Parts: sequence; structure tokens; C-alpha cells
Amino acid sequence: MAQELIISISGMRGIIGENLTPAIAAEYAAAFGTYLKNTAGGKGLSVCVGRDSRPSGQMITSAVSAGLMSVGIRVIELGIVTTPGVGVMVVNLGSAGGIIITASHNPIEYNGIKLLLGDGIAPPADVATKIRQIYFDKKISYSDSPSCGKFELCENTDPVHIEKVLGIVEPEKIKDKCFKVVLDSVNGAGGRAGKKLLDELGCRVVTMNYEPTGFFAHKPEPTKENLVSLCDEVKKCGAEIGFAQDPDADRLAIVDENGIYIGEEYTLALAAMYMFATNKGGRSAANLSTSRMIDDVAAKAGGTVIRTPVGEANVANAMIKNNCVIGGEGNGGVIDLRVGPIRNSLVAMAMVLELMAETGKTISQLVDELPHYCMIKDKFEADAKLASKMLAEVKKEFKDAKFNDADGYRFDFADGWLHLRTSNTEPIMRAIAEARDESKAREYIAAVEKIRHGITG
Ligand code: MG
Repeated sequence: MAQELIISISGMRGIIGENLTPAIAAEYAAAFGTYLKNTAGGKGLSVCVGRDSRPSGQMITSAVSAGLMSVGIRVIELGIVTTPGVGVMVVNLGSAGGIIITASHNPIEYNGIKLLLGDGIAPPADVATKIRQIYFDKKISYSDSPSCGKFELCENTDPVHIEKVLGIVEPEKIKDKCFKVVLDSVNGAGGRAGKKLLDELGCRVVTMNYEPTGFFAHKPEPTKENLVSLCDEVKKCGAEIGFAQDPDADRLAIVDENGIYIGEEYTLALAAMYMFATNKGGRSAANLSTSRMIDDVAAKAGGTVIRTPVGEANVANAMIKNNCVIGGEGNGGVIDLRVGPIRNSLVAMAMVLELMAETGKTISQLVDELPHYCMIKDKFEADAKLASKMLAEVKKEFKDAKFNDADGYRFDFADGWLHLRTSNTEPIMRAIAEARDESKAREYIAAVEKIRHGITG
């Protein structure tokens, strides 16, 4: 077996034909359904099930639906929809939970099962542990024949989702501009809803890789090296902006009017620029590995930033607790609670277009207004023992820095920051450093490497 089946906080991910089989998917969904019955109690519980466009999607969806019905849960199947779209429907239909069949930005070989509770957020760590335990202990409470769950199809996700997104901006202002937009949906789940939203916003839309075939036209992660064709297309057709979604359309990367990929970190910074201006300040939340740009944007607009552990649910919960106007992650994930507590590429598109409409500036002009940082990501082999020794030494080395240990160790310096975290699934330590100068960011990473060498010899 090339790769292990990963069962983490947010769900399960594996390789189709190797370790993610319909039998496993059905049992995992039945464990989730059992948890919902045990806690929410009673009859009439429903779960919304949606999937991205992978060829294995219907197979896993059918298995998951069977698993849910086997424990008496009513299944509402949404078909091929975006991840944030499933969250919207869970809340809209009053379901007890949601399941999304997606492996997000991973290649076609993979698929996964992501869980949502009734509030539209992934289960917190303690709940995820309970669900996993029901699955491993096989403590599944199967229903008898008359009590098996019913099944229905619902194809109403796009209009419900799009209406919510239109509600957070002023569509007329965007319509006036008739922006020319190229949308690359990488043959994932986001094309249909993304194009409908842009049509509603009066954009002249050029679609790329629109059909949700699951045969991704390029590597699906929306990074610079994977979006060369989008950059070319934006230039060729004279578009004002290019958008790239990942296969389940929770992340968004942006290409400027010159055909230049601006980097996923800018998506949240630009959305924050819009939201802080609209709200004349306000609170935001971002994880500890997200660029400092959002702090600069907040400082300029009189807003604040709350830093959270990495993980979408951590950001979403901090946003709810602190009444944040915006939040997200540096990987192009923007969250607006009025639409739902999930990263949403449609939300990000609407906010960035309105920022352009309001300011009358091009996307490259808006990017120029943001401070430029260089972020370096690295990882080191380190088991738990080595990682803990390293963290202690790094803490000594940077004793003068502002320190945060909510998720690994984060050190803030006047000219940058360093974040070190160990992986839950592999014996590695991730190091992310950001500074105005690349050489400075590299210095922070080099200091960690030096400490590692000092310990391992
Ligand atoms: Mg994704």
C-alpha cells in the first residue's frame, strides 16, 4: 500500500482502488450517523451529501449515502457542488450534518470524506475523536428495516448559495463595471456556481476547464506553477482579472490584469481590505501561518486580527466567538459568516470585484498598496522527541521575540515571523517564515536547521 488511509480531524482521505473503498466509506458514514443519533437524538435527522467532480465521486457518494441510511439518517443528496455549498445547504435545510466527498486540491487518484456538523463547521477535535472511535470500535447502531433512512435528491444548492453571496456585496456597483473575468475551475465542482455568480455580477466571463469531469486539466492546487495557462489566457483576452478555484472551490487564487499570478496569500488580504473599509474597521481571524499582510491591512483601517491554530474550524469558531467581519487562511480561503463558516471561493471573488469597483483601481494597483513580504516554507524530518528538543532550543534562541504557542511555536519579530508546527500524521516539523526580505526569511529557517543539526549531530 503506497499511502496510508488518513483519518484526521476533518475526515478521511485515501487513494481509490487502494485504501479508500466503498465498504470503508459506508462504515465511516454509518459511524458519523451513529454519533449524530447519539447526540442530536431522535428521529428525522437528515444529512446533506455533496461531492466534487472526481470520477470516483458517485461511487463514494453512493456508499456514504447507504451508510447513513443504514443507521436511519435521511440523506439529501446534492450532487456535484462546492464544499461551501454543502455548508450553506446544511444550515438552510436544518440538517444535523453534512458530508462532502472531496480530496480538495489533491490529484485524481485521491478522494476523501469531509464531515460537517449542523452549524456547517467541521467537528471540533473532541467530537472528531468520538466519531473516529465509533468507527474503529464498530459501535454502529444499525436500524431495522422500517427505520432505515429515506433518500432524496436536491438540486437547489447554486441558487441558495449564490443568493447568499450576492447579499454580502452591492451587485449593482459591480455590474456597472462589466468586468472581463477569466475563471479557471480546473474541471472541479466550482465552475457552474462560479460562472453563475459572475454572470449575476454582470461580468463578461471567459471560462477555462469549466466542465466538472474530474479529469483535471492541470495539477489542481491553485499555485503559480499550475496556473500558467490561466495567466496566458488573461493576457490574451485582455481580462481585468483571472480567478482559479481548487476542485472543491473553497480556495481562490488571483491573476492580475497583466497575467501575473499574485499568490494565494493576497486573496485574504484583498478581501480583508474590502471588509475593513466597508465596516470601518472590525475584527478578523486568521491562522498562525497566514501572512502578516492582514495585520498591516487591519492596522491601516482600524481593524484587529485574532490569530488561531491552523485548521478551518479553528478560524471559523474564533470568528463566531469574536464576531469577526472576515477571516480565513493564507491558502486563498476566505470566510464570511453571513454566507457560512467555510472557506469560499465565491465569497472571495465577489469581495475582490467589489473592491475593484469601489476603488476604481486595477488588481495590480490594489496589490501595490499592500506591503510586500517573502514567505518561505520548509519541513524537517523530526519525530516527537526531536521536535520537542528543537522547539525548546528555538525558544531559547528567539527569547526576545513575541511568542505564541497556541499551535506549535510562533515567533514574531519586528521584521517578520517564524512558525513551527509538527504534523499530526507524519514525523515532520513544518517551518514557515515570512519577512520583507527573502534573505531574512531564509535566515529564520536556517536558524532552525542549525539547531536541528546541533541536536542530531
Ligand atoms: Mg479545497
